[in-house]
Amino acid sequence: MKTTLLLCAILVSCLASASDEPRLPDLKELNAKIARFAPVKLKVDLKKLSAGDRKALTKVVEAAKLLDPLFMSQLWSGSLELREKLSRDSSALGKARSKYFLMNMGPWSEIDENVAFVPGAPSKRPEGANFYPEDMTKEEFEKWVAALPAAEQDKAKGYFTVIRRKAGKLAIVPYGEEYRTELVKVASLLKEASELTDNASLKKYLSLRADALLSDDYYASDIAWMDLDAPVDVTIGPYETYNDGIFGYKAAFESFIGVRDDVETNKLQFFSGKLQEVENNLPIDPKLRNPKLGAMAPIRVVNQVISTGDANHGVRTAAYNLPNDERVIREKGSKRVMLKNIQEAKFHKILEPISKVVLDPAERKNVSFDHFFTHILAHELSHGIGPHVVKKNDGKESTPRLELKELYSAIEEAKADVTGLFMLQYLYDNDKSGKIKGGADAERKLYTTYLASAFRTLRFGLQDAHAKGMAMQINYLLDRGGFVVKPDGYFAVDYTKVKDAFKSLSHDLLTLEATGDYAGTKAMLDKLAVVRPELAKALEKLKKIPTDIYPVAD
Ligand code: ZN
Repeated sequence: MKTTLLLCAILVSCLASASDEPRLPDLKELNAKIARFAPVKLKVDLKKLSAGDRKALTKVVEAAKLLDPLFMSQLWSGSLELREKLSRDSSALGKARSKYFLMNMGPWSEIDENVAFVPGAPSKRPEGANFYPEDMTKEEFEKWVAALPAAEQDKAKGYFTVIRRKAGKLAIVPYGEEYRTELVKVASLLKEASELTDNASLKKYLSLRADALLSDDYYASDIAWMDLDAPVDVTIGPYETYNDGIFGYKAAFESFIGVRDDVETNKLQFFSGKLQEVENNLPIDPKLRNPKLGAMAPIRVVNQVISTGDANHGVRTAAYNLPNDERVIREKGSKRVMLKNIQEAKFHKILEPISKVVLDPAERKNVSFDHFFTHILAHELSHGIGPHVVKKNDGKESTPRLELKELYSAIEEAKADVTGLFMLQYLYDNDKSGKIKGGADAERKLYTTYLASAFRTLRFGLQDAHAKGMAMQINYLLDRGGFVVKPDGYFAVDYTKVKDAFKSLSHDLLTLEATGDYAGTKAMLDKLAVVRPELAKALEKLKKIPTDIYPVAD
């Protein structure tokens, strides 16, 4: 029997590898793939918007929706035709395929390494998407570029051009030409919106961005975006280059349209005003503290109305940093936009279910979105405090990033997490303004929610810097008794020890960064950034919980 089974197994794998076509999922399998994304209706309060802004928002949303088909065609030349064909199939399988196609903005399942799930598409997503001719090799491109004049080389490698084959030869085509028909419509809607809004910074951004879509010169509108601070928050255009798997040169069209969250914006302002005080009290050697913090990169908190194009597939973005253009970053820095209602949806659909599986039953009531989101804000601000300079023995100056090299991201993310907790605890204990409420109840909510959120981060796998930093934190806390595993395998917080354990971890991480201690950092990560058996057991129980969310219309 055993031999036969083995033979069959060998035979099956031989057959599978002989054909390049992967087996396509049937209805049951496809539904299981879809079920990994929990549907959510995003809530946004539009009541406070002025009449002009409300009208402008409608126009902007109309413009944004045009980027879905535009992005699909950037991803693959056959996308729109295949989508049309799928939409005519009214069988249960056809409907599921159509639905999953839209969730991925194409025929490949993104979280399954981009393998095709419908017939009529290449079995894997083309590496260079539709930015380059499908038959072009990397070598051909490089040889061609090397022979071009310098200015043409920049264009060939630029964010806003595609490469096409004309009479057999490679040629540069600007986005404004390649996508003219669609971009003329998008630009005209943005112009209309700019006439309707009564906010000056939005008016300026929309108008300049409309021009940029047709001229391919995005500089002025990127600068205007950095200055944008309006009740209606808009990010629209070609931005991220992840879909260009060959070179990472070409930007995909996307949009995030939202409404500013005033409560969180005020909270952010309050924290920003406290940063120097927190820095002056960081749990490190006082001479390693920074007596004068520099200006912080702006942060906006918005509630998403809609996201389209590259921002509308696979795992949902909960925060983003833009622009990517180095010229703008040198001049104006970059801006971080946090999507509060996306975070909230992920919290309810993923974090709460996780807490019901891994936390001690008595602690589950302490899991709180307010504390979850406030800690995310504190995490972002904490990137701006703590050591940013390393004084070397030879008197020269370096930075933690340069000294800690490939270990830096994991340490910096963990530092922002832990120092964010320190910041909140410090304000609970010392702030007299009444703007933040401390005490035993707040502390229980903060640390218990944090413990539950650790498991969500760990699900990303240890190749992810956040997850690596999180595994290290959990093990450190378990070793110090701040977190405990109960005999039944549930996790809990020991409130008598958790504060000191985190403070001590904050001290250790800040000191590693301040001294640029590569060997010490490596030793710490090697020992602690691992999944120990008790963690593995808990993670195993989370398999059925959704991977992510999927925004659906009302
Ligand atoms: Zn971070």
